[in-house]
Amino acid sequence: THPQRTALITGANKGIGKEIARQLAQRGFTVFIGARDMAKGREASEELCQEGYDATCIHLDVTDPVSIRTACGTFSQQADHLDVLVNNAGVLEDHGGDILTLNAEMLDRTLKANVTGPILVIQDFLEHLQKSKSGARIINVSSGAGALNDMTTYAPAYSISKTALNAVTRQFAGALRGENIAVNCVDPGWVRTDMGGSNASRPVGKGAETIVWLATEAPQSETGKFWHDKKEVDW
Ligand code: NDP
Repeated sequence: THPQRTALITGANKGIGKEIARQLAQRGFTVFIGARDMAKGREASEELCQEGYDATCIHLDVTDPVSIRTACGTFSQQADHLDVLVNNAGVLEDHGGDILTLNAEMLDRTLKANVTGPILVIQDFLEHLQKSKSGARIINVSSGAGALNDMTTYAPAYSISKTALNAVTRQFAGALRGENIAVNCVDPGWVRTDMGGSNASRPVGKGAETIVWLATEAPQSETGKFWHDKKEVDW
């Protein structure tokens, strides 16, 4: 018999994160819904439970190191290992935006949530990931805005943060190569969520697809790469 597979998804109370949780739960995972707002997180976990899935909410504000530490302790009371960690939580504050007048505080907030947060979450949850029997998988939700070869003008703070997140992915992949822990990042495409807006081309199901594939079916040997629609892409 296989041990119960477990997944933690940050920022999973709505949007792409909630859909990743749903699709992993459909595949038999026990899912931990990370949420900075427990009321919103519980609503999401109850929704998934009502659909018949195994979901629990866990308080996790990725900009607060104490919250991350505490979540790590709470997790260990409910599970003895972690197979999949999805760093999905993210913010986009500079709509349009202009590098010539970029606001430093806004840049700091963006980097804290989109870059420092995932680093701290990986560092703290590593002890649980190392206990995975099947080989653990970390997926960082990046963006096409993180690709330096994409000439589209994106919000600069957001764009810089996602390029940095891709770099963080490479760093952890290298550091964990000997440990059977795969680390990849994904551009989900333009997805209809509060962040993506109603004009976005993709439903959340499609946005979650490659992330869930990397969490489950992709070869464990794939690591340190940036993916879009199940293909490696340059950045
Ligand atoms: P949403 O804005 O719908 O959801 C973002 C989620 O992140 C929310 O649950 C939000 O919580 C959470 N979050 C934000 N800050 C924190 C924090 N400090 N701690 C914990 N959770 C936090 O966005 P999407 O679902 O669209 O985005 C998910 C990911 O996909 C992001 O990383 C985004 O950059 C990326 N992405 C999205 C694209 C799109 O088109 N939608 C395109 C490319 C990438 P709360 O509800 O409390 O605000």
